[in-house]
Amino acid sequence: MSNSLKLLFISSPVGRLGSGVGGGVELTLRNIAVEMLKRGHAVKIAAAKGSTAWGLPLVEIAGVPQTSLQTQQRDTQVTIPLSSVLANFWDYARQVQTDYDLIVNFAYDWLPFYLTPFLNCPVAHFVSMGSLTAAMDQIIEKVAIDFPGTIGVYTKAQAQTFAFADKCRCLGSGIDLSLYEFCDSPAPWLGWVGRLSPEKGLEDAVAASELTGMPIKIMGFLQDESYWHQIRRDYPDAPVTYEGFFSTKELQQRLRQCRGLLMTPRWVEAFGNVVIEALACGVPVISYRRGGPAEVIEDGKTGFLVEPDSVEGLVEAVGKLDQINRYTCRQKAEAEYSTVAMGDRVEQWFRDIFKQHT
Ligand code: UDP
Repeated sequence: MSNSLKLLFISSPVGRLGSGVGGGVELTLRNIAVEMLKRGHAVKIAAAKGSTAWGLPLVEIAGVPQTSLQTQQRDTQVTIPLSSVLANFWDYARQVQTDYDLIVNFAYDWLPFYLTPFLNCPVAHFVSMGSLTAAMDQIIEKVAIDFPGTIGVYTKAQAQTFAFADKCRCLGSGIDLSLYEFCDSPAPWLGWVGRLSPEKGLEDAVAASELTGMPIKIMGFLQDESYWHQIRRDYPDAPVTYEGFFSTKELQQRLRQCRGLLMTPRWVEAFGNVVIEALACGVPVISYRRGGPAEVIEDGKTGFLVEPDSVEGLVEAVGKLDQINRYTCRQKAEAEYSTVAMGDRVEQWFRDIFKQHT
């Protein structure tokens, strides 16, 4: 009997894979897929039409994307547009489910959780954000109770935003370290990497730049243009530039030159893939002591953890960046955040769900 699993990954329905709209879960899906293929499992990715799948087996599905939930109110209702890509994803899953041992859902959306009991194939849900709306909390909790062990999260801090934290399985994250080059001699500027959207708190990093005079290169998907223009108006003298959205290869070429990465999330960041991408390049990370980054960064060793929402704290930490040994950052990424380390946890999770089902 073969030990390999046949896995169907269903991508985020908010946009094309590789576009950045989906945030860190795009990279997580890619890294898990690559690692599972390396381990001899069969993987197919169902993603929105026009997706980049980095040469991985892809089936493109047409339809209208879902709205991201990050900036919604707690009482936001579930909406599904006409010709929904999310609905089409799960129609496809239903049709092909007998070809697979396990379906892996990467969508932070209501429908896949609701449909779980209607499918014969077991579903593993990779939940990529903390609690955002009451409707999502309710449906994820129902699945957590009815299908024990099928809810995977990045971190404990993320799990704790849910009432059912004890029913979540922490999987962490990991990256292909060979794609990130270590840089020992940084340039005199900082980096800020992420979606430009209010929950990411970019304005605090820009305020710190204005106060210290230290330039910041901003990289990431421009999700909310009016938010960015407002920041430029509020801090006209800050030496910051928006560089664009880059592929992983181009991103690390720029990221590795930075003296430090500023992470200023307003929300409970589920993990913050950019933290480990920075560490892999030898770049120390300054972040608020909240959410995933607080579980990853070792204060004074691989960066600094600052009182949440304190721009003064950021400024002070920027002044201490020279105290961090950049090689220690790279070592931390190698020791704990490789795709192999994550792959071990995720593979065991898949096997446990599959075993429970058979
Ligand atoms: N990213 C990218 N190109 C860029 C900037 C960012 O591909 O120019 C990716 C980055 O690799 C990371 C993601 O965007 O995987 C941001 O994810 P993170 O977990 O930090 O935050 P999220 O967007 O999920 O809240």
